[in-house]
Amino acid sequence: MRVGFGYDVHQLVEGRKLFLGGVEIPHTMGLLGHSDADVLIHAVCDALLGAANLGDIGHLFPDTDDAYKGIDSKILLSKVMDALTEAGYRLGNIDCTLCAQRPKIAPHIPAMRKAMAEAMRCDENAISIKATTTEHLGFVGKEEGMSAYAVALIEAIAPC
Ligand code: MG
Repeated sequence: MRVGFGYDVHQLVEGRKLFLGGVEIPHTMGLLGHSDADVLIHAVCDALLGAANLGDIGHLFPDTDDAYKGIDSKILLSKVMDALTEAGYRLGNIDCTLCAQRPKIAPHIPAMRKAMAEAMRCDENAISIKATTTEHLGFVGKEEGMSAYAVALIEAIAPC
């Protein structure tokens, strides 16, 4: 078994849709990025890649590549799972925390787990999503951005 860790940050701006955990969430602002800027999925991708020692999301999907402009991050997550399978691993579980001052995330967590499980072709039970504010402190608390942390456990399909 191997473990990996991921972290990501995106800036909040007006005039962008908000995508978190593969779900569009109604809000007055959205996250800025080359892709759909789904900060939670990006942290999960980096945790999975880290567990398999396959680099990071920026290495696999460069933000200089027009192919990834505005892309649905569920597609990136699915590609990360392909890379993991190819490297001989399967998912154990992931656990992640989204840091956002607003909007309220809890009502959206079931839909996010479902969307991510579909992209990862795994049971929803393998995906834990938690959310927290930062009590109005720092860039998250001041609603300048959102951050996400994730850990992933993977196991070798065949013993090496
Ligand atoms: Mg990112």
